[in-house]
Amino acid sequence: MLGPVILAASRSDRIRRLISAAPVTKQVVDRFIPGERVDDIVPVVRELTGRGLDVTMDVVGEDITRPEQAAAARDAYLELIDRLKELELGERAEMSVKLSLFGQALDGGHDLALANVRPVVEAAAEIGTTVTLDAEDHTTLDSMFAIHDELRRDFPQTGCVIQAYLFRTEADARRLAENGSRVRLVKGAYKEPADVAFQQKAEIDKAYVRVLKILMDGEGYPMIGSHDPRLISIAQELAHRAGRKLDEYEFQMLYGIRGDEHLRLAAEGHRMRVYTAYGTDWYGYFMRRLAEKPANLRFFLRAMVSK
Ligand code: FAD
Repeated sequence: MLGPVILAASRSDRIRRLISAAPVTKQVVDRFIPGERVDDIVPVVRELTGRGLDVTMDVVGEDITRPEQAAAARDAYLELIDRLKELELGERAEMSVKLSLFGQALDGGHDLALANVRPVVEAAAEIGTTVTLDAEDHTTLDSMFAIHDELRRDFPQTGCVIQAYLFRTEADARRLAENGSRVRLVKGAYKEPADVAFQQKAEIDKAYVRVLKILMDGEGYPMIGSHDPRLISIAQELAHRAGRKLDEYEFQMLYGIRGDEHLRLAAEGHRMRVYTAYGTDWYGYFMRRLAEKPANLRFFLRAMVSK
């Protein structure tokens, strides 16, 4: 029940100001977003990869209003990629990108987002890695998939995300499960209406398994983005049944969530990639993490009142 309320609050400027100004917020935010500047994040990448984990890096931010902000986001990614070069991690450190941060919602946004993301994909390819396009709310997805298709002409390894809660996703998965594609499957983190998305957890979980089966039986590279222990063991079983080797799929989890599980899967020989977000515009990302688990909100509120 609380999740949709928090997701609605994530779009409110008034609540954004209140939460951002609260003195305890920073300490709770740090659990999910381990830095604001590129200098903070490079040591985090070093530490995670030193423990046998791979990373996908996200510069946080989404609701921009001016093209200059999109250009600044592009430059932040370029700076990050430049810094990652010295670590020589290749595809062990890839990027995750939200096209809204690159201007997708502005006037002429589709072309603007494509123009901003292309140099990031090019720079990533130069250091032997790649970019995955995150999935945002359902109204943005046709544009995201069109940009994905366009980028894949020159950079076939460019990945994208599909969300199990959307009715459209089985069809998207069938289209995407082709040789050379990289597709991250997640449950979905936005507040979506009942005419486009399943609303009940049980229905979303069932849809997740159906879509995962399509990806595992297909010819692409599935990336299982979930912390759900049941889905993780189903994924292992489906991979086994499809005859996939350990390097023919991977698990992905968010920084700060079920860290022991990251290490357990890596120790079992799985490729485990940690989605690591950083930057100053953390509000939307942080609120989605609160919405996913009521205990996070309780922890946050307790920290507020105990100050
Ligand atoms: P759940 O059933 O929500 O959680 C399973 C268990 O995981 C919970 O019981 C709890 O123990 C733990 N857990 C889950 N979330 C939290 C949390 N916030 N805090 C503490 N514990 C938690 N969504 C999109 O819409 N678009 C994207 O591009 C996208 N990219 C993602 C990338 C990665 C690598 C991951 C892991 C998730 C991404 N998501 C994205 C978010 C996703 O859609 C879900 O909202 C989120 O993963 C929670 O679903 P779950 O599969 O972990 O299952």
